[in-house]
Amino acid sequence: MTTVTNQTEKTRIDKLREAARPCFQCGICASSCPVFRVAPDVNPRLAVDSIVSTGEVPEEGNEWLCAYCLMCDQRCPMGISLAEILIELKNISAAEGTAPPQHCSSS
Ligand code: SF4
Ligand code: SF4
Repeated sequence: MTTVTNQTEKTRIDKLREAARPCFQCGICASSCPVFRVAPDVNPRLAVDSIVSTGEVPEEGNEWLCAYCLMCDQRCPMGISLAEILIELKNISAAEGTAPPQHCSSS
């Protein structure tokens, strides 16, 4: 886990926690994810669980592998936008300087 220190980013995490709170961990998002099928570490359900349970950004950085296909969004019975949550996690990681270097511009 990466603990967010900046107050602005903490506020963004709090908003994500509110968005993810209805999750009841059914796992439909993970079973619908085409990336999860080939890379089991990319688990949108666990990313949401991490946010709700700890309010911290998962350190693994697997959100960076999300293909933004929106399958998880379409199938979540609680209407949670996993894809938007993953994008916001990436934005927070970038703002905190913890984004994987291969995903950062070198220019
Ligand atoms: S599909 Fe929705 S309710 Fe089910 S685990 Fe994923 S985010 Fe939670
Ligand atoms: S949007 Fe990302 S997390 Fe959701 S199903 Fe597609 S690849 Fe998986």
